[in-house]
Amino acid sequence: MLVSAKEMLTKARAGKYAVGQFNINNLEWTKSILLTAQELNSPVILGVSEGAGKYMCGFKTVTEMVKAMVDELKITVPVALHLDHGTYEGAKKCIEAGFSSIMFDGSHYPIEENIEKTKELVATCNELGLSLEAEVGSIGGEEDGVVGMGECADPDECKMIADLGVTMLAAGIGNIHGKYPENWPGLRFDVLAAIKEKVGDMPLVLHGGTGIPADMIKEAISLGVAKINVNTECQIAFAEATRKYIEAGKDLQGKGFDPRKLLAPGAEAIKATVKEKMELFGSVNKA
Ligand SMILES: [Zn+2]
Repeated sequence: MLVSAKEMLTKARAGKYAVGQFNINNLEWTKSILLTAQELNSPVILGVSEGAGKYMCGFKTVTEMVKAMVDELKITVPVALHLDHGTYEGAKKCIEAGFSSIMFDGSHYPIEENIEKTKELVATCNELGLSLEAEVGSIGGEEDGVVGMGECADPDECKMIADLGVTMLAAGIGNIHGKYPENWPGLRFDVLAAIKEKVGDMPLVLHGGTGIPADMIKEAISLGVAKINVNTECQIAFAEATRKYIEAGKDLQGKGFDPRKLLAPGAEAIKATVKEKMELFGSVNKA
C-alpha cells in the first residue's frame, strides 16, 4: 500500500531527521530503493519526474509496478509515490493514476498564479488524502530540460504558499540539481532560517541533495528540512558500476551479457548510495 508523505514528514520534523526522496527510472531502480528502505527500516519517498514517468510508459504503469512490487517484496515500511516537479496537468494525471503524493512546481509562475493553482491542488489532495509539495523560488541546475537559476526564495512568499495548506514546501536556498560546480558558495542558511521563522513547523524540502557536504545536510535538517531529494547520485553510482563491469570485460565472459547479470552491479551501487543517504539523513529505524 502507498501512503501520503504527511505522517512520515511530520514525524521527521519532530524527530529532527529527514526522509529521502529517491527518484526512480525503471524496475531495477525501484527494487533497489524499496529493498534498502525495508532492510534499514526507513520510510521512503519514490520520486518520479514527468520525464521518467513518460519513459516508464506513463504514470499508471509506474503506480501499478510500484504497488505490485511493494506487495511482492513484502515491504512494510511507509512508501510514498511522489510526482517530482509536476506541472499542473502532470499533477492531475498522477492524481488520477493513483500516486500518493504530488509536487506541483509553480515556481516559474508569477506568485499570484502559483498561489491560485496550488490552492486548487490543495483542495483536491486534501479530499483524496494525498500529500502536496509546493515550490517557491526555482532551484538551480537542469531538470528535464528546465533550467532554473538557483535563486533564493522570498520568505514572505513561502509563508503565502505554506498558509494555503500544503504538506511540505520546497524553497530555493542556493541548492541546485545535478553536480555542484567547484565554485559553489554553499547553502544559504540565513535564508533557510528566515523561511523557517515564517512557516513554523511546515516540513521543508531540500532539492538537489547530490554532493551537498554532510555537515550542511545536518545543519539544514536542524533548521527544518524534513525531506531531501536524491537523484543524480544514484544515476552516477549506477553508471560507474555498469562501466566497471563492461570495462572488465565481464559481459563477454560466459552469460555475462544476461541483463540480470549486466544490471546487477548498478543495482547494488544504488542500494549502497541509498543506504549511505538514509544513514546521513537519520531515517534508519524510523519506519
Ligand atoms: Zn528538484
